[in-house]
Amino acid sequence: MARTPAPKSAARGKGQASYQGLGVAPGIAIGPAHVQGGEVPAFADCTIAPDQIDLEKARFAAAVETSKKQLAKLKQKTGNLPAAAAEELSFLLDAHIQMLSQSRLVRGVERRIGENLAMSETAVRAESEAIAEAFEAMNDSYLAQRVQDVREVAARLVRNLTQTPWGAFKNLPAGAIIVAEEITPADTATMDPDIVGGFATVTGGAEGHTAIMARALGLPAVLGIGDLVGAVRSGDTVIVDGTEGRVVVRPTAATLERYEKRRLEYEKEERQFSRLAKLPAVSKDGVELSLGANLEFPREVEQALAVGASSIGLLRSEFMFMNRNDVPGEDEQYKFLSEIVKGMGGRTVTIRTLDVGGEKLASALGDLSPGPNPALGLRAIRLSLARPELLDAQISAILRAGAHGPVRILVPMIATVDEMKQVREALLRNARRLIRKGTPIADPLPPVGAMIEIPAAALAADALARVCDFFALGTNDLTMYALAIDRGDEQVAHLYNPLHPAVLRLIQFTAEAALRNRIPVSICGEIAGDPRYTALLAGLGIRELSMAPIKIPRVKNRVRTLDVQSAAARARMVMEQWDMKTIADLVDAYNDSLVKSKE
Ligand code: PEP
Ligand code: MG
Repeated sequence: MARTPAPKSAARGKGQASYQGLGVAPGIAIGPAHVQGGEVPAFADCTIAPDQIDLEKARFAAAVETSKKQLAKLKQKTGNLPAAAAEELSFLLDAHIQMLSQSRLVRGVERRIGENLAMSETAVRAESEAIAEAFEAMNDSYLAQRVQDVREVAARLVRNLTQTPWGAFKNLPAGAIIVAEEITPADTATMDPDIVGGFATVTGGAEGHTAIMARALGLPAVLGIGDLVGAVRSGDTVIVDGTEGRVVVRPTAATLERYEKRRLEYEKEERQFSRLAKLPAVSKDGVELSLGANLEFPREVEQALAVGASSIGLLRSEFMFMNRNDVPGEDEQYKFLSEIVKGMGGRTVTIRTLDVGGEKLASALGDLSPGPNPALGLRAIRLSLARPELLDAQISAILRAGAHGPVRILVPMIATVDEMKQVREALLRNARRLIRKGTPIADPLPPVGAMIEIPAAALAADALARVCDFFALGTNDLTMYALAIDRGDEQVAHLYNPLHPAVLRLIQFTAEAALRNRIPVSICGEIAGDPRYTALLAGLGIRELSMAPIKIPRVKNRVRTLDVQSAAARARMVMEQWDMKTIADLVDAYNDSLVKSKE
């Protein structure tokens, strides 16, 4: 094995180290680290038949290739780091890449497959342990450091061979802080917030679905820390400050004390805001805004009611499809949805049809190819129309859930009038079928609306309004598509800005088209839950906002301090600007004046 310079101490050091990333879910969590991916996933040992040797070697070669690609991707991410950290981390990743390139490990595994008829996983474990033992016996400090690398590479190989997902957070210590290269939205769905304290990752952007899930679970989270790999060991104490985007590893007693204090302050503030739950979201000049909840998981119903949500403005139905290998049928979906509708006690529940594809691939739809550009590919309504059995099952389940309380059907990624018409036809077809069978369904039929999240849909809002009963502006995707910036990519996260005049014009145009055509319009993208944007959106004529339940109290507080007429005057000033910095200054100065007037 070629010698790569040993990584310097900070990457694998003792003592306190702190890292800056993207704070995507607020709050402070302190707990023992659980480094995801460091351990070899469990597998059943077995041998192969002599005629399977070539096939098995090919399987191993494929896992080696996947592992190299993952490491190369991680290495790319070090580009954004300060030079010293980037250099240090590159050494580490290079060492791992070398171990996968005609190294003793690779040759040894191939030999064990050929000679011992070992299956790849068994061969990887046996060979990596043999190398580790040999290194440990040599009493050489450089080689001693490499033992951990060998084990990490072996774990990566076995994970890729067994196709073990990154998630599956089991047997964790209470309050564990999960540290991982990547946590997918589906992984977050397996986290129990009563056990997990928070998480920190190398990849991910602030508006990606993993970030949204973290907010939904109320778990402080920091994403996009390039130099996190190798810096933390399971069991190390870690602080995740999701408000400031900082992660502190192995804090000193003084740091720990400081963060404990801040954690208590944050919780006190939360309790103060929660007192607003029973008060209406009415501005100083008497304009009422509807503050609804976005739901990722059924368990959030309780949370939504506790903070006084007026409705569910967006139920992301993907949770029903996550972490399973089959597609839930109509009955199963009906069961889930009707529980939520009943739980909301007469408040409207806006249920969005499946929005997988892009970054949200569900294993239930395993034959789905991501395509050359997943964000522009077969996702959301395009997938539902290409697989009508999916749409029929969803629409029927929603229609049946609608017998228990008011529901609306929301269709993601609408680009054309024709797509909406097809959904309406599916609605009528399924309603007729259920009525023929005597199955109780929503009466009258639920309103059907479009997510406005593709710039083309915003620009054609007048045409779409003819076939829509309501609009919901999905500003997360709208910003991404308008600016051509991946919402989940930390490398361009700093360029992602909903205050870009193009995005604001698309919002304004949609709001005005809805008004002209007398249909309701809401915003359910992440800006709806950020008080920074509340006055601007109210000023642009938006009266319905839907957000993660934990965001409602702070946004309500802002609504109650603003005056919609003056917010509209400020919005007009904003819309005359072309420079994002000036826009941001105008927005922030207005918000500051609201805070000051309250003091
Ligand atoms: C959006 O795009 O703004 C939205 C609400 O949908 P999602 O975040 O689920 O893509
Ligand atoms: Mg979207």
